Amino acid sequence: MIERIEEALAKYWGYDGFLPLQKQAIERVVQGKDSIVVLPTGGGKSLCFQAPAVLLPGLTIVVSPLIALMKDQVDALSECGVTAARIDSSQSPPEQEEVIARIRAQTLKLLYVAPERLVSQSFLNVVQQATVSSIAIDEAHCVSMWGHDFRPEYRQLGMLKQRLPNVPIGAYTATATAKVRADIAEQLHLDNPEPLVGSFDRTNLIYKVRQRTDRIKQVCEVLDRHRGESGVVYCIRRKDVDTLCTELNARGYKTAPYHAGMSAEGRQESQDSFIKDKVDTIVATIAFGMGIDKSNVRYVIHTGMPKSLEHYQQESGRAGRDGLEAECALFHSGGDYGTWKSLMRDMSPEAHEIALAKLKEMYSYCTGGTCRHKVLLRYFGQDLEKTDCGACDICLGEVDCVANSLEIAQKILSCVLRLGQRFGGSYTALVLVGSREQRILESGHDALSTYGLLSEHSKQIVHDWIEQLVGQDCLDKAGEYNVLHLTEKGLRVLKGQEQPRLLAPTRKAAKRSKAAQDSWEGVDEGLFEALRAMRRTLADRKRVPAYVVLGDRALRELARQRPATLEALLDIKGIGEKKRRQYGETILATLQEYCDTHGLDVSG
Ligand code: ADP
Ligand code: MG
Ligand code: ZN
Repeated sequence: MIERIEEALAKYWGYDGFLPLQKQAIERVVQGKDSIVVLPTGGGKSLCFQAPAVLLPGLTIVVSPLIALMKDQVDALSECGVTAARIDSSQSPPEQEEVIARIRAQTLKLLYVAPERLVSQSFLNVVQQATVSSIAIDEAHCVSMWGHDFRPEYRQLGMLKQRLPNVPIGAYTATATAKVRADIAEQLHLDNPEPLVGSFDRTNLIYKVRQRTDRIKQVCEVLDRHRGESGVVYCIRRKDVDTLCTELNARGYKTAPYHAGMSAEGRQESQDSFIKDKVDTIVATIAFGMGIDKSNVRYVIHTGMPKSLEHYQQESGRAGRDGLEAECALFHSGGDYGTWKSLMRDMSPEAHEIALAKLKEMYSYCTGGTCRHKVLLRYFGQDLEKTDCGACDICLGEVDCVANSLEIAQKILSCVLRLGQRFGGSYTALVLVGSREQRILESGHDALSTYGLLSEHSKQIVHDWIEQLVGQDCLDKAGEYNVLHLTEKGLRVLKGQEQPRLLAPTRKAAKRSKAAQDSWEGVDEGLFEALRAMRRTLADRKRVPAYVVLGDRALRELARQRPATLEALLDIKGIGEKKRRQYGETILATLQEYCDTHGLDVSG
């Protein structure tokens, strides 16, 4: 059989061999077994279901989330001489009828379809009368709430096992943690799928993480290292795309913007000029990238923290597809965490919990002192064999560590031991900084020899260090309460046989007070400025000082919550019945206008 597959490979695709795991994946389909195939972007997943489709007698159905992706693949297959078609809502009814006729006539090898169509009764009737040799679910992480791109319509695919019981199902994805993998198998009712998982380490990517101090300056520094080369700069918000793009062009860089608030033509134009190398840099929101296959992207810059490590892996992964060295720089600030949190507030409780857990993991990547390759790989359930990757800021020694890392680590580790390895990070940090909190005094932990050993540092910093020691495998967390205990490596550090790395607290983080952080958390500063202008007008009209109209706190609250109704205005501290009556309409109009022009939503 494998010879026939190799023949087909050469005949239709002109390939003379397999990429890693393709052969195993193809064999499983040909043998009629269910499978989960996890390969990084560019790993060659399509061939894993396309090659068997050519060899097997009947029809292979491919489920795909986007019409654009379906169209590309069908075009590519037709180019190769494989009979393939798609059926989707962009086609006219006669076009769709024609595809159905081809299914009935059994002349097709591959059919691309969206999940909601495949599970519709009328379509299943057609399919059940044809010989279906296998079903391929592309971008299969979409079935899982734990993935980064959950699509409810993918959930319904769970019925396929029952409706087409003898047809093997293959699930294909680039980003799957063990959790997502298990969820895919469960949701799709796969029969003993034995996942095939490729290596996710992108050894040619150099990861760097910095606190964002001066966005334009930091971005320019990276661009200057890559003069004339192609790259992507990601921003969290559309308005940041527009301003950054303008600023960069004014400084002589060749960039084009891309976000979902632009017209389709505008986006197409930006994308084309990037692909055709007429501009070097695309400045974009994460709307940019899906289906873009430019192989010579030399840098991907994030000007804010992404909301999950999956997103980060995917977006930064667009660099260096050609296998050559590329730089992935990430600039983050504490405020990014708040921005994402405020964008998450309308989620269902279940989804919210998941999103928050992912956000925390992303945050600890940014603030951690562990090799970036190692953390990313570990997130996807893999281990980095090397202790020094030579391709991240940590291993390259570019981040500042505290000079006495070993001593501090030993203090922390011995405190964990003194506490009987029965407490979590937060409590341990309190003991180390010598907190007078009731629960500590009550349990007599102020009498421990390690009590107050790190009293010259803040609780937050000590807690960060504890997390960094967890990241470096010196401590482990267990159970529901994340109780800390020492690992083998931790014991070696305690004996001074191994050197851990603890990051020096950045001046900025140390200086910014909790209060300032809180009051700006999740506030759209542009909107705040717009509201301030509105306040000025109202105040001028009434000839009163601005703060009499509305306080800054109320403005920030408005810019944070973006209420959409007069009703909701009353929830803002500083707006009572009277102010609502006087200014309500004006406030709502200002909010609405800003949101419309900046691609934000007012809350419902
Ligand atoms: P994925 O879906 O995993 O991101 P694709 O299926 O789109 O990856 O394939 C990525 C690239 O690898 C494509 O350009 C494809 O033509 C190429 N490719 C796939 N299999 C092989 C092979 N066996 N030999 C050479 N190139 C291959
Ligand atoms: Mg693919
Ligand atoms: Zn490293």
